[in-house]
Amino acid sequence: MAESRASSEGIVRELPRLRQDFDAALAGVRDGAGLQELRTRFLGRKSGELTLLFGRLGGLKNEERRLAGAELNTLKQEVEARLEARRAELEAGDREERLRHDRVDVTLPGRVGPVGRRHPLTVVREELEDIFLSMGYEVYDSFPEVDDDFHCFEALNMPPDHPARDMQDTFYLEGGDRLLRTHTSTGQIRYMLSNPHPPRVRIICPGKVYRRDDDITHSPMFQQVEGLVVRAGITLADLKGTIEAFLHALFGPQYPIRFRSSFFPYTEPSVETDLGCIVCGGGGCRVCKQTGWLEILGSGMVHPAVFEAVNRKLGKVVYDPEEVTGFAFGLGIERVAMMRHGIDDIRLFYGSDLRFLEQFHR
Ligand SMILES: [Zn+2]
Repeated sequence: MAESRASSEGIVRELPRLRQDFDAALAGVRDGAGLQELRTRFLGRKSGELTLLFGRLGGLKNEERRLAGAELNTLKQEVEARLEARRAELEAGDREERLRHDRVDVTLPGRVGPVGRRHPLTVVREELEDIFLSMGYEVYDSFPEVDDDFHCFEALNMPPDHPARDMQDTFYLEGGDRLLRTHTSTGQIRYMLSNPHPPRVRIICPGKVYRRDDDITHSPMFQQVEGLVVRAGITLADLKGTIEAFLHALFGPQYPIRFRSSFFPYTEPSVETDLGCIVCGGGGCRVCKQTGWLEILGSGMVHPAVFEAVNRKLGKVVYDPEEVTGFAFGLGIERVAMMRHGIDDIRLFYGSDLRFLEQFHR
């Protein structure tokens, strides 16, 4: 009896310390995991500190068990209530934090990042390609910028003493065997060599070309579009009709077009094409040097020597000058862009100055 009484008091005496420990631990809880840990420490089913005290009730007499049990239950309920309150508190804090973090102020103005545009020369090149694609042409652009004497000069009927081969005009690579192509006409030769079938050619070759020139109207790198049509029965009338259709599509049908006799080594006859000045309408201005006309395009009927050079390289007669004829033409992309936008310095296109480039919205 005396022992039981001592035990009952022993249990009750431990409760203030337990409450104190719980208070201290609860104050340190910062999240759900900490809370769960605390719950296990005091109420865990096997070794919770409160649970162990409940286990000791079994050794007490009825009356003492009732008194001590009541005390224990009171504390247990208190612990459970405070754990629950702290859980609700943590959850509310999480929600608040989330709301603060995720808040969207719908009244703020949007942020507009800088928007890139296509380069004005890219716009012109794609426009040229579209026009010729609509006329049934193929775009051939897989020919190299570093080429050799044969494709750039020899096959295009330029003998070794031709001025276009002069060191002043051409960039040669070390060793002198290779060069940077000076015109997209290399594309004509490479296409015919890579298509040794019964000849039926209708291509344009857009690309960068290189010459040792650098002033207000010349850039050491510029862009051309070459055209080549080969078939039985092609005549100068086909050339004329094609170029008229192309220039009308590009600039509009209101500008007059004229053809002048000219000279290129790889065409015979050769023709220069002028367009009525799109700046002054033909009356004469600074851009057209008071002539009322703008040079736009060089062309001509493919010289038989070009076909013969290709045949020699192929080792058989595929492009027989007795069977097929063709025409070729070429124009500068920068020139078209300069005419269209009234730009008088070609170097602006390659200066990467955004104040210039941002003016082109198409
Ligand atoms: Zn003019």
